[in-house]
Amino acid sequence: MDESALLAHIYERSAGLAGAVRVGPGDDCAVVRVAGGTDLLLTTDQLVEGRHYEPGTDVGRVGRKAVARCLSDIAAMGGSPVACLAAATVRAGFNEADGLFDAMRAAASSFGCPLVGGDIAIARGPTVLTVSAVGAPHPGRGPVLRADARPGDLVCVTGAIGGAVASGRHLDLTPRLAEAAWLCDELGARLGAMIDVSDGLGCDAGRVAAASGVRVVIDAAAVPLGVGATDVRAAIAEGEDYELLFTCRGAPPPSAPTGAPITVVGRVESGAGCVMTLADGSIVDIAGAGWDHTG
Ligand SMILES: [Mg+2]
Repeated sequence: MDESALLAHIYERSAGLAGAVRVGPGDDCAVVRVAGGTDLLLTTDQLVEGRHYEPGTDVGRVGRKAVARCLSDIAAMGGSPVACLAAATVRAGFNEADGLFDAMRAAASSFGCPLVGGDIAIARGPTVLTVSAVGAPHPGRGPVLRADARPGDLVCVTGAIGGAVASGRHLDLTPRLAEAAWLCDELGARLGAMIDVSDGLGCDAGRVAAASGVRVVIDAAAVPLGVGATDVRAAIAEGEDYELLFTCRGAPPPSAPTGAPITVVGRVESGAGCVMTLADGSIVDIAGAGWDHTG
């Protein structure tokens, strides 16, 4: 089963949803309008033992990551988290469930997003953690979608790309919530599309290009490599960076008040697809450069 094909299947069948659904499947969060005209961001995310972390990893780090990567999708929409729910499937005899839920609760609180409910089930197979979160869009900018990149925009990333898995940093990620809110404040209508780099800069930039109906061109020499990353073509395919990739009309500030650097890594053109220009002048297709979670 190919993840892209599965997602396409889901998206095709999501047309014609109720009018309250402002944004359906296919972005980092859904956007649903409730009574009174308030928009909510909704997202859910799974963390699977043996897939997203190694068996035997400290449950404190596992619980924190499960919450943090879910809230990274709220950040990707420019939103603020409101509350979250957690569900866990564990093996019979698993005796660290207390520690797991304590870690999720502590992480959620630290990100300003109280854990307000959950469920636990016993089954054979690996531990699976599912965290779902509700967020509020930025009050001025509104939800920041993948579909709002325009030709002429600059493509930017926060932080650095690559090396997150090999170094173990992926377990200690901090979702870029503060940076996302600040980008909305600072750039307003100059902020175009945004996504969090979870599966690889190549395929995530490709998703922005596809959603926006534009072509994204990344400059290999401009990509800021994370500690432990040496090869840019590998770095853009690794994923687990949880940085923000966004497009900007005009130059962005060089860093956020949190200290996170902001780097221009490419540009948006009319056309389709996502490519990277290498130092020797050659151009490679990178829209498929990333991690397929179903593989
Ligand atoms: Mg995402």
